[in-house]
Amino acid sequence: MTDRPALDLAQIREDFPALNQSVRGKSLVYLDSGASAQTPRHVLAAINKFYLEDRANIHRGVHVLSQRATASYEKARVSVQEMLGAAESREIIFTRGTTEAINLLAQTYGRSELREGDEILISHMEHHSNIVPWQLLCEQTGAKLKVAPIDDAGDIIFEAYEELLSERTKIVSIVHVSNALGTINPVKKMIDAAHDKGAIFILDGAQAVPHMAVDVQQLDCDFYAFSGHKYYGPTGIGVLYGKADLLQKMPPYEGGGDMILSVTFEKTKFNDLPYKFEAGTPNIAGVIGLGAAVEYMTALGMDAVSAHEARILEYGTEALKQVPGLKLIGTAKKRAAVLSFVLDGIHPHDLGTIVDSEGVAIRTGHHCAQPVMDRYGIPATARASLGIYNTEEDIDRLVLGLKRAIELFG
Ligand code: PMP
Repeated sequence: MTDRPALDLAQIREDFPALNQSVRGKSLVYLDSGASAQTPRHVLAAINKFYLEDRANIHRGVHVLSQRATASYEKARVSVQEMLGAAESREIIFTRGTTEAINLLAQTYGRSELREGDEILISHMEHHSNIVPWQLLCEQTGAKLKVAPIDDAGDIIFEAYEELLSERTKIVSIVHVSNALGTINPVKKMIDAAHDKGAIFILDGAQAVPHMAVDVQQLDCDFYAFSGHKYYGPTGIGVLYGKADLLQKMPPYEGGGDMILSVTFEKTKFNDLPYKFEAGTPNIAGVIGLGAAVEYMTALGMDAVSAHEARILEYGTEALKQVPGLKLIGTAKKRAAVLSFVLDGIHPHDLGTIVDSEGVAIRTGHHCAQPVMDRYGIPATARASLGIYNTEEDIDRLVLGLKRAIELFG
């Protein structure tokens, strides 16, 4: 822990204009940041500035607006590099989100490196975006998908994971923090074990970067993916970090403008990193907005963010345990920001609708993690997910909403 001051919650809530509204006649309680977080004014201002003053295409213009837009775009890359602790800014590739980052890896690294009989290892708690791209790759290459099991609490069974690793394992791709269970995986020791077998390690950080400091060099992961919209940035933008030597070896993902050095009909020379993987006009406003989100979160301090959210998670866990008939799904030793639960006799969708009528936004469903639901023998859960702006009062409002549902259904 650093000696940074704790979060100033009143100021933070003021920074997010969307929080200051009534829905269904009640003040909004937003407990769905795991699906998409709200946007602070600092990010909105950066996007606005781009559209109001600097809008132009990047990298190709000699005029002032293009130069300003290019400078802001590349400054955001450096901000993301620093935030992830990457060695070089060319290791940061902008994508549409986590989903595109993982598909990029499957179709470039995966397709060029994997052969029939090779293995890809994931876990039972993956989001569909860290399952389906690998299934597609297996169909294309004849590789096999292996799945590391989890226990009833939602922790990975490390011994079983280790046993599944073999000389045939070429890729391990694991979620850093589970969106359905909140489990924080012991990724450092999982990475070391995978490297011992010669596999590369990919981390899906979509639910990790909004809640904790991440250092890709310290973790020694080979690739790291996350989405801007869960990190208080814009939608439609995300990041793929990769070690430069691996990215250099990989074939490009899409062909087009900006990813080339020269083109003739006979032969095209590809551009250097990171541009080789950023074909066409990118989401310039999205990148600039994401850069502003990094500035905002860095100023708060990720240690202070983690400490605040851990307190609310603890408070929420205790409060939900008092609700009659409620069962928490996901009680792993280390968790972040997610309270997933079912309530006796009430379908999660009905729960979601009733708490919404009380002004409380939560998510219900399978959370794009159907194998997790199958693991617990349930079709869906209700999920409250936390952000930096949530307070104990938000949890109290959720509990009131749940009690209202029990009254109606009981
Ligand atoms: N992985 C995890 C753990 C997620 O929670 C999500 C989003 N729910 C994704 C991947 C996919 O992110 P996106 O839809 O932004 O590409």
